[in-house]
Amino acid sequence: MSISRRTLLALGSALGALWFAACSTPEPRAVSVAPGVTRVQLGNVTAFTIRDGHIPFTLDANFVRNVPLANVQAALQADGLSTERVDVPYTVLFVETGGQRVLFDAGNDEQRAATVGKLPDGLRAAGIDPKSITAVVFSHFHGDHIGGLRNKAGELVFPNAKLYVPAPEWDWWMDDERMAKAPEGMKAAFAAPRRVLAPLAASIVRFQPGDMVLPGIRSLAAPGHTAGHTVYVVEGGDRKLMYWGDTSNVPNLFVRNPDWAGRFDMDAEAASVMRRKLADMVVDQNMLLAGYHLSGSAIGTLARRGNGYEFTPLGN
Ligand SMILES: [Zn+2]
Repeated sequence: MSISRRTLLALGSALGALWFAACSTPEPRAVSVAPGVTRVQLGNVTAFTIRDGHIPFTLDANFVRNVPLANVQAALQADGLSTERVDVPYTVLFVETGGQRVLFDAGNDEQRAATVGKLPDGLRAAGIDPKSITAVVFSHFHGDHIGGLRNKAGELVFPNAKLYVPAPEWDWWMDDERMAKAPEGMKAAFAAPRRVLAPLAASIVRFQPGDMVLPGIRSLAAPGHTAGHTVYVVEGGDRKLMYWGDTSNVPNLFVRNPDWAGRFDMDAEAASVMRRKLADMVVDQNMLLAGYHLSGSAIGTLARRGNGYEFTPLGN
């Protein structure tokens, strides 16, 4: 039996199409549901990112501590951004998986500034009743991540949620001796978790980083930004999704330049090592990435670029 040239050609192009389909994983589609609210479907896992707001910080030599201010200004200018202030965005990740409705971090205290505290409105725009949230999982205890648990009147915004906190983070901030010895400028940072979280002991689950926190949600120790900073990998969907909390602040500066020491990192050297380690994990395993201070929809892809990485948000 002879195979005609036409059959061979047809076979070749069919194989080519198969090869292309196998090699190119299309990015999941991101749907903009409302301003600052984006939905991404990952198989059985539904994810939303919800912008809680933003705050402009003055750009001074303290914002990035280990490079000259001029380098930082040049990096911002190259992206068409202000060289006098850095607009830091806050974006919460919501994931529905295995019957759980999970928030990763809780937004800012709405009294902090008029430009933050938008998470409850964003949830409603996404069709998610804050009362239906079953779990809030925390990366760390800085005020911009825990303040949104209570509204202006001091009432719980997610009254039916269990609160999952990394044990090392809890132990660090709740240590009375450490608080007593802390410099004056740090006292408010110690007071916040005590005010917001300590009265909720009955709904708090303390876990060790590395544990499976909920079905399909694995935690990973990521100290540096804070002593107990913890990140999460959502494993249940078509594609793994890492939520890396504050592993980086604004990506134009700290994803592009992982070795830059940001003012918010409590142990800048450890934070920088962790940034590279987690970024490599995301790239090598072709994960999607979400982060609290990432740009745009704050969920997207990561690639290596120069001496660092490039974050590309979905849907922007
Ligand atoms: Zn933060």
